[in-house]
Amino acid sequence: MQTPHNIAVVGSGLVGTLLAIYLKRAGHTVSVFDRSPDIRTIEFSGRSINLVMSDRGWKALKDIGLDDEIRKIGIPVDKRGIHLQDGSLTNQFYGKEGEAIFSLSRGILNRKMIDLAEAEGVHFYFEHKIWDVNLATASLFEGETEQGAWKEIKFDKVFGADGAFSRIRHRMQRQSMFDYSQEFMQIGYKELHIPANADGSHKLDKNSLHIWPRGNFMLMALANLQGSFTCTLFMPFEGENSFENIKSEDDLTAFFAEFFPDTKEVIPDLVRDYFRNPTSYLAIMKCYPWTYEDKVALIGDSAHAIVPFYGQGMNAGFEDITILHELMQEHGDDWKTIFSEYEISRKPNADAIAELSKRNFDEMSDKTADANFLLQKKIEKWFSDKHPDKWLPLYGRVTFSLQPYAEALAIGDFQNAIMQKVLRMDHIEQNWNSPQVEQRIIELLG
Ligand SMILES: Cc1cc2nc3c(=O)[nH]c(=O)nc-3n(C[C@H](O)[C@H](O)[C@H](O)COP(=O)(O)OP(=O)(O)OC[C@H]3O[C@@H](n4cnc5c(N)ncnc54)[C@H](O)[C@@H]3O)c2cc1C
Repeated sequence: MQTPHNIAVVGSGLVGTLLAIYLKRAGHTVSVFDRSPDIRTIEFSGRSINLVMSDRGWKALKDIGLDDEIRKIGIPVDKRGIHLQDGSLTNQFYGKEGEAIFSLSRGILNRKMIDLAEAEGVHFYFEHKIWDVNLATASLFEGETEQGAWKEIKFDKVFGADGAFSRIRHRMQRQSMFDYSQEFMQIGYKELHIPANADGSHKLDKNSLHIWPRGNFMLMALANLQGSFTCTLFMPFEGENSFENIKSEDDLTAFFAEFFPDTKEVIPDLVRDYFRNPTSYLAIMKCYPWTYEDKVALIGDSAHAIVPFYGQGMNAGFEDITILHELMQEHGDDWKTIFSEYEISRKPNADAIAELSKRNFDEMSDKTADANFLLQKKIEKWFSDKHPDKWLPLYGRVTFSLQPYAEALAIGDFQNAIMQKVLRMDHIEQNWNSPQVEQRIIELLG
């Protein structure tokens, strides 16, 4: 047990709220500040941003006994449903039998977690924007406007869980020896909606993550509990097939008719959704250090914002909490060591998942429709089923294991180099599951 402290968490998003529960359970007084209104009082428009939870996220929930509660509001997704332009559909299973990621509504999950945190005794202060922090004294500055009067609130420690555009990080950026980079993608995204059937059932298989891969753009759909799907169109801002080039209803209808003809029946409000919903940006943000002495620490997106193509942003943020918690148990009141080991341990892994996520756009939007890639996946699955001790495909390492992301990236690159050699073997299309291929992989594994 640690000496109780008065701790502030800035941000009541998924990471801030889960962290608050952990800190409260460790015996601290915890106050969470958020600039937004309480998400539980906001009426959802029937639409919902959704995300997938995988093993790292589940571990952080399980360790404090919340996993079963959250599983009830999720839908298991065990495969990709690949919709080709000719209208055909193929399934690619993600892992072994019984392995699945879970589709969850971000809003519903966030509401649930705030309820759970409040029940633990965490104090929430909504519509309280934090404008600044004094790093040396762990004081927050809260107020209505940037120019108006601010109130200073002193804590023992502050956690910045205030997302990709963190104010807490902003203050840290003004320290010397603080590294920071941001990279905006040339690809943006827009949400569209597949409503439920009249009887509340789903129009597509709810246990698939649906992808319509089209080279440098793609459409994706994930099921919601109430029978609907949230679709996301990922596409370049500029260029031949781009947001810039869809200016009118006719442009949009023609574009969808050409590239996504099988969605005509299932996205009835395409035109309304497309022109009403914003086109959002995607960015990768990296920084270091993540902590200031034993006073202030960044966690979740404020420390490492990544692109969503591996479905790992929240999962990585939850894993930050797991590691922090392990260090709290190990080092007790030595917060300097806890913070320093936390950032040393997490930084290479955050950089690795940033890289993997960026690369995964190509895999989802392009390679999932590529015959060579599909053959590679088939061989990997076959070999892995035969030799589970020798080969776990990269997706499984990232999604269905707790192997540090940096190790998963390194081994994934090694495995990919082996597979490129295997794919060059004579008549590999016919012999992909032959003893020669098996032997060759074993040799290359060394
Ligand atoms: C399209 C898309 C799809 C995604 N899909 C997945 C997925 O499938 N799986 C996955 O794991 N991740 C996914 N992610 C990433 C995931 O959403 C984020 O990693 C996660 O929500 C980050 O949580 P957070 O609590 O760190 O930050 P946030 O959710 O951004 O929360 C930050 C909170 O801080 C508050 N705040 C900000 N500034 C201040 C301030 N100055 N004062 C007070 N409060 C403040 C905000 O109001 C907000 O409530 C996706 C992201 C996107 C964009």
